[in-house]
Amino acid sequence: MADVSRDCNVEIKDVDTKKMQELRFDGRVIVVTGAGAGLGRTYALLFASRGASIVVNDLGSNKHGDGSSTKSADAVVEEIRQNGGKAVANYDSVLDGEKIIKTAIDSFGRIDVVVNNAGILRDTSFAKMTEDKWDIIHNIHLKGAMKTTQAAWPYFIKQKYGRIIFTSSNSGLYGNFGQSNYSSAKLGLVGLTNTLAVEGSTKNIYTNVIVPTAGSRLTEDIIPPDFFEQLKPELIAPVVFWLCHEDCTENGSMIETALGWAGKCHIIRSAGCVLRQNLSVDVTPETVRENWLKITDMTSAKRFNSIQEVTTELFGVLERMKSASLNDVDHILKNDYNFRDIILYALGVGATVQEPNDIRYLYENADEFSVLPTFFVLYGPMGCMNSSIVQDAVPFTFNPTQVLHGEQYLEIHKRLPTEATVETRFKIQDILDKGKGTVVLIQHDTYDVTTGEKLSSGQMSAFIVGSGGFKGKQTSTFVIPTIDPPTRKPDVTVTQKTNDDQAALYRLSGDFNPLHIDTAVAMMGGFKKPILHGLCSLGFSIRHVLQTYAAGDAHLFKSIKVRFAKPVIPGQTLRTDMWRNGNRIHFQTFIHETGVSVITGAYVDLLEIKMGLPRANLCSAKTNLDSDAIFVTISEQVKQNQDEAKKVNAVFLYNITVDGKHISEWTLDLKNGEVHKGKPKSGKADATLTLEDKDMVEIALGKLNPQLAFMRGKLKITGNIMLAQKLKSLMETNKAKL
Ligand code: NAD
Repeated sequence: MADVSRDCNVEIKDVDTKKMQELRFDGRVIVVTGAGAGLGRTYALLFASRGASIVVNDLGSNKHGDGSSTKSADAVVEEIRQNGGKAVANYDSVLDGEKIIKTAIDSFGRIDVVVNNAGILRDTSFAKMTEDKWDIIHNIHLKGAMKTTQAAWPYFIKQKYGRIIFTSSNSGLYGNFGQSNYSSAKLGLVGLTNTLAVEGSTKNIYTNVIVPTAGSRLTEDIIPPDFFEQLKPELIAPVVFWLCHEDCTENGSMIETALGWAGKCHIIRSAGCVLRQNLSVDVTPETVRENWLKITDMTSAKRFNSIQEVTTELFGVLERMKSASLNDVDHILKNDYNFRDIILYALGVGATVQEPNDIRYLYENADEFSVLPTFFVLYGPMGCMNSSIVQDAVPFTFNPTQVLHGEQYLEIHKRLPTEATVETRFKIQDILDKGKGTVVLIQHDTYDVTTGEKLSSGQMSAFIVGSGGFKGKQTSTFVIPTIDPPTRKPDVTVTQKTNDDQAALYRLSGDFNPLHIDTAVAMMGGFKKPILHGLCSLGFSIRHVLQTYAAGDAHLFKSIKVRFAKPVIPGQTLRTDMWRNGNRIHFQTFIHETGVSVITGAYVDLLEIKMGLPRANLCSAKTNLDSDAIFVTISEQVKQNQDEAKKVNAVFLYNITVDGKHISEWTLDLKNGEVHKGKPKSGKADATLTLEDKDMVEIALGKLNPQLAFMRGKLKITGNIMLAQKLKSLMETNKAKL
């Protein structure tokens, strides 16, 4: 200490000549809190020796914060003055920081530097820590430093200059037994430094934190005497001095110093470890456990200079996860489609202008022009044929004609645009060894490139005939199961003949596998003729389902799952048998001529049911009539309005004719609330209605008034004619409520 003041005297005498070389504080006003003793006193003496005007603040308490006295502050002021410096005393607690700053303003007219140094100890183990001990330490160290600094802050802002020192401790940085109150307050000052450094940086207000170790009354009974001797506070003062100087641009730093040594401390962070490879993967506690060594490996640890750097780094992590999500695919297929593609596909799966509901798929200016949802299954085979993903995935080579489309799942997530640029991402999900063959599960999800939205999720299972037995796994959690239909007779059946050129037409939508057009290739695959694409049969069936249960509205489609059981030869008739179970429509598709089932275990989930009037027999199917669908609709209405139906309390028999020939009969048993094909199960009908199939449809569509039909002889009624009156609303299924 004596050395410092002697040096100071020398320097002060020689201010003018040494000004350029030495660091000075002429004209600057500095507040040093707790400057009556220890570290604060040496700071005050050094600053004063270099021309600063000093406010020597000290409450004059003991080291535990008890009592107060003016003596210590006065002594230091006196010492400065005796050395030729300028100083005034202030005896307020730092908790009254505004009074301390007022002293500076009142005495010297300004404030340039605040050194927050005042401090006490109230050590005790955490178990014995009291709220009083906690609060007083936090108040004096943290709140007091805040109060004093905040009082000076407006002056700093105004003059665009200010230097602030906070005093932390190794106890805060590293922890120390018995100092939970002190260490937490001291580390709080590091946080305060960090934020003031950010807020003041553009205004030439720099804030740093000092971490000293010095012999003082606070440490006299903690540090061994020999060491204590060497830890002179004067050795720390020059470090604080430089940090407060206007030439020093250090800001937001933590400087540890003792014994004539100083160094900078940083909070550093390990390079860390990404716990999920892409955005669709969850993080589990087990993942964290498995990666703990990597998370905590500090070999490549680094320092971040700002919260922005941390955020930027996190954005980088996010971007890597995003691109990993994108890259976590085995193949990407890009496509554009517009109305031509949609219409071509619809024609390929049997949409026809004969069916009024199909116009929405066939004419771009039609009301509700829409894309058939199964258009999106096209991308599955397209992507597999345009890439080697299946070949690359399996541990053997195979001939492409050995590959059959085994099963297909499709789910639609958004209202499908009628024109879009799409990207389909393919991922091999699993490879199953089925003994006689291999199943490859391929996920294909299609995104709208413009909006980034996922339009559909698909799963295709490719079956490679004669390739199993490689000791692979036999089952997979990725398998989406098919579901067998109910055992009862189908609720609705729709038949439609495919065209001889059906496969030739369908392939133009993008599935160019020669198996479907080239006889030689078909024969190599074990077929006599080119076969129809399985997905084409599926397209026929989905139209039948939509027409029956969604009134043709494609937007009511949610998902579909099917298994392709047997091939269809173009020209054969497809029959779709349907069973309703809530919003799920089970279906099974047969070759009508042979009775062979070609699509099994299939179902469509609809968002809602909207009964339609499908025109059965669009081509050559023989047993079903258009009116069958109307009876199915009536049946649905009866099921849903059982009470009202039973009020009619009668049994009706319908004889349906085509060109005067009796073709079919249906029973409306409103006594039991059921509708079925054929004669009444018991007893006689109360009334029998005979009419042409086409007239039944006309009445149902509201185009033919039933009374008029009766008058004109188109509807013949025997039995209780009065009862038949009650059927009017049921006959007009379009308006019917019962
Ligand atoms: P010290 O006890 O010698 O000096 C602290 C001074 O602060 C005393 O003069 C005391 O009267 C004054 N003071 C206490 N409460 C006050 C209040 N409410 N308002 C105004 N003045 C008040 O201690 P020191 O060792 O010189 O410590 C100075 C600072 O350095 C303290 O903040 C301390 O926590 C910190 N520190 C010291 C060491 C060390 O090794 N000495 C290590 C780490 C941190």
